[in-house]
Amino acid sequence: MQNSEAIVPSILIVDDDPKNIRLLASLFEDDYDILFATDGKKALEIALHEKPDLILLDVMMPEMDGYQVCKTLKNDALTTEIPIIFITANSSVNEEIHGLEIGASDYISKPFCPAIVKIRVRNQLELKQAREKLTRLTITDGLTGIANRRCFDQQLKKEWIRASRMNQSLAVVMIDVDWFKKYNDHYGHQAGDECLRKVAQTLAYSAKRSSDFVARYGGEEFALILPMTHTQAALIVAQNICVALSDLNLPHEKSDFGKVTLSIGVAIEIPSSNVPPESLIDNADKALYIAKHSGRNQATLFTG
Ligand code: GH3
Ligand code: MG
Ligand code: MG
Repeated sequence: MQNSEAIVPSILIVDDDPKNIRLLASLFEDDYDILFATDGKKALEIALHEKPDLILLDVMMPEMDGYQVCKTLKNDALTTEIPIIFITANSSVNEEIHGLEIGASDYISKPFCPAIVKIRVRNQLELKQAREKLTRLTITDGLTGIANRRCFDQQLKKEWIRASRMNQSLAVVMIDVDWFKKYNDHYGHQAGDECLRKVAQTLAYSAKRSSDFVARYGGEEFALILPMTHTQAALIVAQNICVALSDLNLPHEKSDFGKVTLSIGVAIEIPSSNVPPESLIDNADKALYIAKHSGRNQATLFTG
């Protein structure tokens, strides 16, 4: 759900001279939350823990200079997305090129014009917001609002590696709506879309653990990733989903059950790093096939 109150962006100002921090803070404090650090080490700490939306970074500082701070932030996956603007008296062209080459988004020379600094900061914040929105769009399924196939593939790869390192089991659950072509033909495509949204909501509600992951796999198929789950527990999650959806009693006149139901296949294994994760999807698909051919509206475990 969208929060109606806009979140105020935060800016981290890094400068070894408190006078400069005060000057910059006075330009931005009405519009943004201000954080500050007077040395590089502290700046890295704050960047990691507070995740500011932008960093204004001095170049010349004792011990760790701005370039080192910038390189460290850009090399860390957790901070690499934070835009950095250098603000420095060091205004040679080569210095500017160096700053931009190591990943800064902009480079401002002192003495600066406050109005221009404000605009450049605003531009970088807008670009960051646009990038984040684009990222969200590329991993979200437009119809249901849950993760899409691309996001599922990325997540499965990550969980597969994690589970193989820790020698833990990983379960994949493939879910397919029963007689959905008939549903569309009978109730229309719009009603079909609404039905898929309800299925997605039910899945998101049923896979409760924070490590559980729900995605729309494509069409009327959905998939779950359940890390660190025992075989029986994975099967119970799948069976509960079947029951939860059936209990919604969404009318489906053209189904033998008179309502919308799901068929589900579950596969589980302890991954090995030299086998691709697709084997788990194949096995869950095989179990799903058996669920379909055993009468639908049920969950089946792949047993090899
Ligand atoms: P089964 O019980 O064997 O799974 O039969 P089924 O009819 O569900 O399977 P089939 O693969 O024949 O049909 C899937 C249908 O799902 C056909 C397609 O039109 C519909 N579908 C796929 N994506 C969407 C969508 O985004 N919206 C709607 N409304 N329908 C969709
Ligand atoms: Mg299908
Ligand atoms: Mg189907």
